[in-house]
Formats: sequence, structure tokens, C-alpha cells
Amino acid sequence: MVTSYHNHTLWSDGLPTLEEQIQAAIEQGLDEFGLSDHYVVRPDGHEPEWSMPLGFLDEYVSALKQAGSRQSHLIIRTGIEADFIPETISSLEERLALHPFDYVIGSVHFLGEFAIDADARDWEALTQDQINDVWEGYWKQIAEMASSRVFDFAAHLDLPKKFGFRPSVDFSQQAIAALDAISKADMAIEINTAGWHKPVGEAYPSLSLLKAARDRNIPLLINADAHESAHLSRDFDRARELAREAGYRELVRYERRRRIVYPMD
Ligand SMILES: [Zn+2]
Ligand SMILES: [Zn+2]
Repeated sequence: MVTSYHNHTLWSDGLPTLEEQIQAAIEQGLDEFGLSDHYVVRPDGHEPEWSMPLGFLDEYVSALKQAGSRQSHLIIRTGIEADFIPETISSLEERLALHPFDYVIGSVHFLGEFAIDADARDWEALTQDQINDVWEGYWKQIAEMASSRVFDFAAHLDLPKKFGFRPSVDFSQQAIAALDAISKADMAIEINTAGWHKPVGEAYPSLSLLKAARDRNIPLLINADAHESAHLSRDFDRARELAREAGYRELVRYERRRRIVYPMD
């Protein structure tokens, strides 16, 4: 069984259309294919260009449901990658509640105004103290995201490492507190293989965090965060090896926000 749940299309910042992504998923032999375009409710109302316009949610969900009903060889899951922003979480929750999602992915891409994964130059402009603050704030915000209980699983868990800017202070306690919050909220996490292709050259999350997640029985998915059709299951073999090394033997999938466990091949 191969599922791929974290994928983007032209609805947000993916390059392919929904139809092209589905065709590629069939050709690549996936069993379940989920789309998760970006949805970001900012406190200032500004809509990032890499996210779908807020008013498009109805159309997006309808397009996915229709595409799913046309497929007999592939199960299409309706997902979304929504940003957790403390100030707008109630608004986000209300908007999402109107739609029959199979799963909602929770992401932290912003700390206040700071965009964590947009551009290495944003990080180059920071002092080491500010870099430390981003890391510390990030883990705090992940814990808050879990406590909101709006999301099914957390995306790319240690995203601030993307451009290689590491903290000079050990924040592993804060990271563990975030995992404890995820566990308490009964959320899952993903191995996000896109990290292997970023400057950091490491999947999200690190092996040590993955082991800590396994120790807490936090369920796991393997995803590619694909923005192109060629990447829908990129490095999944390598990700399964990483998962096994961390002690995982099972993965999870979702239907109408119900989690289903299956053995990892
Ligand atoms: Zn993301
Ligand atoms: Zn994504």
C-alpha cells in the first residue's frame, strides 16, 4: 500500500493541474492520492501568492470530490495544508468545518511576520540570537498548533532547518514538548522527503525527532510535499528505511478525518 497525501497543484503553488497530478499518481501506481493545497488565513487579511485565495475553498473541495468520483483505479483524498496562526485559528476552524475533508495538515510557515521557508536571504539577515528566537518560537507554535486540535497531522516538523541555519542553543527540550503536545492531541506527523532536496539535505523531521515521536506512539505518514508530478513518491523507499530505523512498522491513512493504520511494506 502506497499513499501520498501532501501534494500541491495549480490551486496553490504546485506546477501541475489537479488532473495532471492525478494522471501521474495513476501512472506511478499509488493506491491513495491526496491533494493538500495551501490555505492561509493571515491576521492582516493578506493572501500570500503561494496559497489559494480564501474564497476558493468551496471550488477547491468540489474539484477534488468530482475528480475522486471519476476515478475507479485510484482513491483520491481531499486534504488541505493549512497554516496554524494563533490569531486566526478560530476563523480557520470555522472555514474548514464547512467542508468534508479527509484530513487537514497543520503547518507553521510563519512566526509573526517572519517567513520560515521562503528565502535563505531572510535568514542571512538575522543575528544568531534572532535565529535562536525563531527556533524557540517555532517549537512553541507547533505545541500550540497541536493544542488547537484543528489538524490531523503536522507537516515538515523541523522546517526551520531548511536553509541550514541551526540554533546555537539546544532546543531539544522545546522540540520534545512540541511532540508531547502532538501526542496529547492525538495528531500524527509525516516524514517529508522534500527536505532531502533542500539546502539542509535532510528529511523532515530528523531521525532523533522521529525516534522521540515513535517513543510517544505518534502515528506516521510518508509524504513528498510534491509541487511537480515527477515527485509524488520521491524517495519513499529511503523514507521507509528511515522510519524503520526509528522503530516504525506501521503507517496511517485517513478517510473523513478518521485515521486508519496499515502495515509498512
Ligand atoms: Zn508546507
Ligand atoms: Zn506543502
